[in-house]
Amino acid sequence: MIPESQLVAMSMTNYDQFLSENKISSDRQKTDMVKRVGDKIAIAVAEYMEQNGLSSRIQNYAWEFNLVDEDVPNAWCMPGGKVVVYTGILPYTQTEAGLAVVMGHEIAHAIARHGNERMSQAILIETGGLALATAVDSKPEETKGLFMMAYGVGASVGISLPYSRSHETEADKLGLIFMAMAGYNPQEAVDFWGRMAQSGGQKPPEFLSTHPSDQTRIADLTAFMPEAIKYYKK
Ligand SMILES: [Zn+2]
Repeated sequence: MIPESQLVAMSMTNYDQFLSENKISSDRQKTDMVKRVGDKIAIAVAEYMEQNGLSSRIQNYAWEFNLVDEDVPNAWCMPGGKVVVYTGILPYTQTEAGLAVVMGHEIAHAIARHGNERMSQAILIETGGLALATAVDSKPEETKGLFMMAYGVGASVGISLPYSRSHETEADKLGLIFMAMAGYNPQEAVDFWGRMAQSGGQKPPEFLSTHPSDQTRIADLTAFMPEAIKYYKK
């Protein structure tokens, strides 16, 4: 895998650039909610990592939470804790706890370094195994494109990939723990994915109903719920 510190460095640049090129929501209330949920989950993550002797994994995180005004049901987290939620997912999240489901899930992908795995594979395939720093220097645009794809940022421009089934399952479980520790009822996740399942229309790969199927996901979440409830700080 690529050293995580290199990807964190890349995310600082790419996140700022993304924000400068996209419309940040001017809705004060919704923006505050995104930042509030993010702050609570960040505290929960720090606590969880400390309990598991993994604090070094987030030592160079500089959390940031932004709401982007775009009608696409999506969200993502770059390494280093750079999070974007799109306004288009709020009709599905509905409540603050619903938003915590989504943000917990996306943050879990970053904490579990799923993007790193995808980025490492992509660099290997697309550049024949160049070191990341070399790839950044010699093919900056291509490398940036791979980065955006690996972290699910490209959804709205059609270059995103679904995470693998095992990544999804891990992010679901870890996400439930994070939201529960942050004070949100993890049971809300079942309701959120139920709403996703009922909705038709175009969804980005991260929220495709076929991956895993909504039924499988909801069954898995329900099976894990007794464990998640143990972390729930009411
Ligand atoms: Zn996911």
